[in-house]
Amino acid sequence: MNQALFYQCNGIGPIACCPPFFRPCNDIPLAGYPGHKRDNPPRYSTLQRSMSMTDTYEGILQRDGKTRAIVTRMPGGMVTPDELETIARTARKYRVPFLKLTSGQRFLLAGITPGDISGVIKDLGALAQPYTAPCVKFVQACPGTEVCRYGTQDAIALARETDRLFRERVFPAKIKIGISGCLRCCGESHIRDIGIVGTKQGWTVLFGGNGGTNPRFGNEIATGLSSAEALDCMQRLAEYYRKHAKPHERTARFVERVGIETIREDVVAMMPYVGVE
Ligand code: SF4
Repeated sequence: MNQALFYQCNGIGPIACCPPFFRPCNDIPLAGYPGHKRDNPPRYSTLQRSMSMTDTYEGILQRDGKTRAIVTRMPGGMVTPDELETIARTARKYRVPFLKLTSGQRFLLAGITPGDISGVIKDLGALAQPYTAPCVKFVQACPGTEVCRYGTQDAIALARETDRLFRERVFPAKIKIGISGCLRCCGESHIRDIGIVGTKQGWTVLFGGNGGTNPRFGNEIATGLSSAEALDCMQRLAEYYRKHAKPHERTARFVERVGIETIREDVVAMMPYVGVE
């Protein structure tokens, strides 16, 4: 990664000296946001403390009010034959009655009895996602230049790197990321909290999209970025959102409340690779 990208930050010091997240020099200001006080503790701190990223997970309660579900972690929807065999073996062993691919390119194992949850998680190993915390729920990606003849950027490689960067980070609400290798947007980038679209000139980063009952297209934040720049842009947006969103506030509602111009003013201005118009 181009470390030079991280040497411009808030005038406090070189970001490259610290890990990407939770570093003092990543404390992005919220200029023009009425009522915000920098000295206040983050408003989601209670929520964050109450959430666990570890092993007290009891699965997702299902419609019947009794059984539970587990989803797998498969960045970009990529899975190996060995991993498929692990999933199949686990599903057979615990007689999982409902096995489905989700829109987030993960496997859903549903209908698990509560007493089997810990065994399923143990047998799935690294494939299990036993998270109760609001975090990056998935990074979906299209095949990109790996196999697709229309691809202009390597969506799978960026998805793997994105998952690595955001894994186990807690946010005010869940985050979904969609990465597409070209403008056809098979990775559903426009309706994801963070959307990435490949063009011949590089990556375009979108922020604040979602589907659901109140859908919203994400706003374009920057375009023509290299992979390293796109990752840096994503991290800065995510950190800004982490610091300033209300508990449970998805990025779409956050953008509507704060305003995309404020976000651009606060975050994009800190990106040395984004030209000023
Ligand atoms: S978005 Fe483009 S590169 Fe990705 S699968 Fe669709 S057509 Fe192929």
